[in-house]
Amino acid sequence: MKSELQFLRTIKTGKGLINLVHNLRKIRRKASVKGRKRSSLTQAQRESILAKTDSRCHVCGIEIDLHGFHADHVKTHSSGGEHKENNYLPSCQTCNSYRWHFASEELQIILKLGVWVKGKLLADSQLGQKIANEFVKHEMSVRKRRLANNAKSKL
Ligand SMILES: [Zn+2]
Repeated sequence: MKSELQFLRTIKTGKGLINLVHNLRKIRRKASVKGRKRSSLTQAQRESILAKTDSRCHVCGIEIDLHGFHADHVKTHSSGGEHKENNYLPSCQTCNSYRWHFASEELQIILKLGVWVKGKLLADSQLGQKIANEFVKHEMSVRKRRLANNAKSKL
């Protein structure tokens, strides 16, 4: 697959970007390998994976420990990534859950969009204010749902 930069260079409109995001998702879903079993890592494998980054999340760099870290597939499980130590890097829970099963090209676009949005927030523009309000509204509803689910599971 082409790198994201090559893809983005062909885009000339917002609609084009939206189509690109849809197409990359379609490609990933088509290539998805289903029905493969996930196996768990041994304690020794987990220790060796964590040592690769000196107990830091490979995405954001936050300090993580042996019990709390997630072993993140470099090549995703759903795209055929193998259950081998060299296909894992340690990550924190947030980075691992947001990475989800996105293909590399999708992640590059998501990261670029995120950095661009951060610039809009810092510029205190109308667009930045609107994005901030919508994002906080979204986060609060996620938090509310999570709290409700936790309360339900304790009943
Ligand atoms: Zn992280």
